[in-house]
Amino acid sequence: MPRVSVVDMREQLKHGNRSVFSVPLTRALLLALQRKEQSILFVNRRGSARFMLCRACGHVPICSSCELAMSLDMTDPLDPRLRCHHCGRSRRLEEQCPSCDSPRYRPFGVGTQRIEVEAKLAFPGARVARWDSDVAGHKGSHAEMVRRLEAHEVDILVGTQMLAKGLDLPAMTVVGVVDADVGLALPDYTAQERTFQLLSQVAGRAGRRDLDGYVYIQTYQPEAPPIVAAANHDYRGFYEDEIAHRRRAGYPPFARLVRLLHRDTNKERGLEEAGRIAAELRLLRDAAGRAEPDVLGPMAAFIPRIRGEYRYQVLLRGRNPSALVANVRLGERWSVDVDPASLL
Ligand SMILES: [Zn+2]
Ligand SMILES: [Zn+2]
Repeated sequence: MPRVSVVDMREQLKHGNRSVFSVPLTRALLLALQRKEQSILFVNRRGSARFMLCRACGHVPICSSCELAMSLDMTDPLDPRLRCHHCGRSRRLEEQCPSCDSPRYRPFGVGTQRIEVEAKLAFPGARVARWDSDVAGHKGSHAEMVRRLEAHEVDILVGTQMLAKGLDLPAMTVVGVVDADVGLALPDYTAQERTFQLLSQVAGRAGRRDLDGYVYIQTYQPEAPPIVAAANHDYRGFYEDEIAHRRRAGYPPFARLVRLLHRDTNKERGLEEAGRIAAELRLLRDAAGRAEPDVLGPMAAFIPRIRGEYRYQVLLRGRNPSALVANVRLGERWSVDVDPASLL
């Protein structure tokens, strides 16, 4: 097992380090370079400043009824809002951290390109390469990158979780998770579980053969259960915490979910249709004298627009939400996903 260190980025900032790389990670990267070993820096591919994070205390705004991180909605720049992707609840964005009043309460997310640039600046002379979906699109590019890594033509690889599986490089000794907070803040009931899995997986990339491996998880929330558990290789502890959260907030396996997703090239028409179906579902439920399932939304999907189509969703949560869906007529722009593995 590699040695896993959790780096508290709040402390880094307090001590004046504003770099995206903490002091312990920087030191480890420098040592690896000296020893002619390789390193990987993991960046979350969805890190595009979609949520708020306090750099002073690590606070991320959470929807109180869904226990999920709220997303930043800048649709109206004069009225920035926090919005829950699950239930649609929103509130005006505070100017200071609602938890500690710090003004260091800002959108969070870095991206692979920025980390590549920062790594080249911080480690001049190091051969830095980037591996993400932009680069990986070309045929044969994966094999070529693996060849370059195996031939040790790359010292520091910057990449997304696409890399987490399958790499087995003898000289790969340092793994840095640059922005562990992004995974935790994804508005999905599986976000904690996925973060735990990802961190456990990437930790396995370091020190696979004779050399010792060192893993650095950078985070503003070092006490978050998936991070603590991944650092201690504690699957059991994570499971117990996660199952309690699922039970409390009413997520699978304690309830069933159905997602109705509507696609339309016209935004207003799409939202209107999604709202119409949500209202009809509520009416049907109430007419049957039932308290459940919950009908949440309509809400813009996590990816609100794909190939020119606006995506709005309605979520149903309860013991048997499919029965209610069977009673409405959905047009061809709708798709129905029963027990979706993810809501992203
Ligand atoms: Zn704060
Ligand atoms: Zn909510």
